[in-house]
Amino acid sequence: MVEEFAFDNADERRKVRQNGTGWIEVIAGSMFSGKSEELIRRLKRARIARQKVQVFKPVIDARYSVEQIASHSGHKHDSIPVSNTAEMLGHVLTETEVIGIDEGQFFDMAIIDAVNRLAEQGKRVIIAGLDQDYTGRPFEPMPQLLSVAEFITKTHAICVKCGSTANYSQRTVESDARVEVGAADKYEARCRQCFVPHADAPTLV
Ligand code: ADP
Ligand code: ZN
Repeated sequence: MVEEFAFDNADERRKVRQNGTGWIEVIAGSMFSGKSEELIRRLKRARIARQKVQVFKPVIDARYSVEQIASHSGHKHDSIPVSNTAEMLGHVLTETEVIGIDEGQFFDMAIIDAVNRLAEQGKRVIIAGLDQDYTGRPFEPMPQLLSVAEFITKTHAICVKCGSTANYSQRTVESDARVEVGAADKYEARCRQCFVPHADAPTLV
């Protein structure tokens, strides 16, 4: 699925650095599609390249340990829990070269300006997040982040019903809260055919 990322290539990266600019990468997809796994993979490679890396995640995601980002498959990376964009910016160090952000959909809209600014300061910003909520609606601020990113990776899960490519996160418990934190206990990956929008889902226009 995810090819070798273009900017894992040191020459390419150097070329961009010489222009004194950073960039934004977004990894978007449904639950279980491998977003966190892919984010962790890129962050590990940056560390192997001895780049200064900082990782953030919103405190709302208490799925696993709060000071780590974790994939459903057990991959982990240290991270700083933050309540909002302003708090995240307060932690960013001048010397940081690569910034990783998981669960981007749980940030406030100020994240869009923030990541643009960080990229303008020469940092590589990698954000992973759910692009749709449990009703299939675009999950802000991910659509806006996808618009401003230089590079976008869409990840897919496997539909638990039929084995097709899954693009939706099916909620399997009764709740109409947009944010209902959970994993396999509350959600499963479904394809377009097998996804059943909740009764409260608004009509998409
Ligand atoms: P995300 O961050 O997109 O929720 P993760 O990176 O946390 O995804 O987890 C991806 C891993 O989840 C896969 O490598 C696989 O081990 C596991 N997994 C569990 N259910 C599924 C599924 N239905 N489709 C694909 N992977 C799944
Ligand atoms: Zn299916």
